[in-house]
Amino acid sequence: MQALKDLVPSGGLRNLDQVISEMDGMISPEFEPYFLANTALNLLFVCDRCGRCCREEKVIAVSIDDCRRIARYLGVSLKRFMKDYTRPHELKGKLVGSARMLKKNAGEACPFYDPALPGCRIHSAKPQVCIAALYLSKMNLLICEEQKKVNSFPICSADEKMRARITELSSRIKEDAGAKKQLDQLFDDARDEAELEELFLLLLRLKGMQIYFGEEKAAKLARKLGLERVPGDDALKETGLIYAARLL
Ligand code: SF4
Ligand code: SF4
Repeated sequence: MQALKDLVPSGGLRNLDQVISEMDGMISPEFEPYFLANTALNLLFVCDRCGRCCREEKVIAVSIDDCRRIARYLGVSLKRFMKDYTRPHELKGKLVGSARMLKKNAGEACPFYDPALPGCRIHSAKPQVCIAALYLSKMNLLICEEQKKVNSFPICSADEKMRARITELSSRIKEDAGAKKQLDQLFDDARDEAELEELFLLLLRLKGMQIYFGEEKAAKLARKLGLERVPGDDALKETGLIYAARLL
């Protein structure tokens, strides 16, 4: 947790109220507990690249930024990529904006799924929805809010492994009174630690914004806060694991 403090500029964070209000406008506060929990899970999760969701997902939406990035990765023009690989989004309206969908017929795998790898042949340039994976999709947040609990994904082997890791940590914490006390102090007691928890949750939320809305929007929020950039995944993973163990 202490390492998180080093990310903060010497004069402290700037424009905090303004940035929080902007974040509230991007993901409304009733979704926030699920947004934070799913951001932590997204950070902890290591995809097995089994390709199951790439084979079974019906729709893969791509933003114009996704299209640019993938076209660059494939070494083709944006126009060529849009023509060969995408089609108009089946939904219309403000929420969809300029997003399109990858071309694929019902029952077919994603055109970038390669069973020989196995997995995604554009892994480092894949669409934002694939980076957000199962956790930070709009659908999953809606399900969590409706069920008032964090949703799990029995079809995904990586989700199962991650939950086993979290459960193991939870039981170790419960069995070890000393460790439990230390953790409670870390998150609850001292004023300094309470401030650190607030800082962790803010940075976790910012990370979630990066995964959900993309690099550019999150970088803007980070700059307003006076941060050089959105913290890297590794800066948040360790505390994220403890956070998830206390939550699930
Ligand atoms: S089902 Fe899970 S492990 Fe398999 S590719 Fe999808 S996210 Fe990765
Ligand atoms: S783009 Fe890659 S990660 Fe996304 S569905 Fe297709 S194969 Fe899977």
